Amino acid sequence: MNPGWYGQKYPTLDDLVDFGSGLGADICFDRIVSAVYFAEAPPLILIPVQHGSLATMWALAHELGHLCQHSGPKGRPFWGKDEYQANKWAACALIPEARIQLHQNASVDNFIAALSANYEDIPPIDCHARNLAYKIACHRLDVLNAKGFYSH
Ligand SMILES: [Zn+2]
Repeated sequence: MNPGWYGQKYPTLDDLVDFGSGLGADICFDRIVSAVYFAEAPPLILIPVQHGSLATMWALAHELGHLCQHSGPKGRPFWGKDEYQANKWAACALIPEARIQLHQNASVDNFIAALSANYEDIPPIDCHARNLAYKIACHRLDVLNAKGFYSH
């Protein structure tokens, strides 16, 4: 069951944390190399903090995508399909469907602008934040295209 804000508004970091906590997960932020998700009970999610706000939001949203969709056998490694579903859930979390419907402006550039406006000011240069925003925007557009909308 998705949280009330999902697809409706741009979530805050607190929204993401509250959702994970509500599902029983412990969520910790630290200067670690990359995000980690332990599915053992209680689930534990570790999120790196040193890569900026957008990277933090994306990493947590991705792991929450696993948490709320993938409850396979303990210790089972994630499959490629799981990663796709986690990325899809996360992209739809960070770029809400209601806002796309409202503005009718689905494009990679507009999605990057929305991410920049809501999560982290992304400079118009080749950098980690912009590359990440591009990746998220592409995942979001893939979901729309898969639904048959906005094929222009
Ligand atoms: Zn993953």
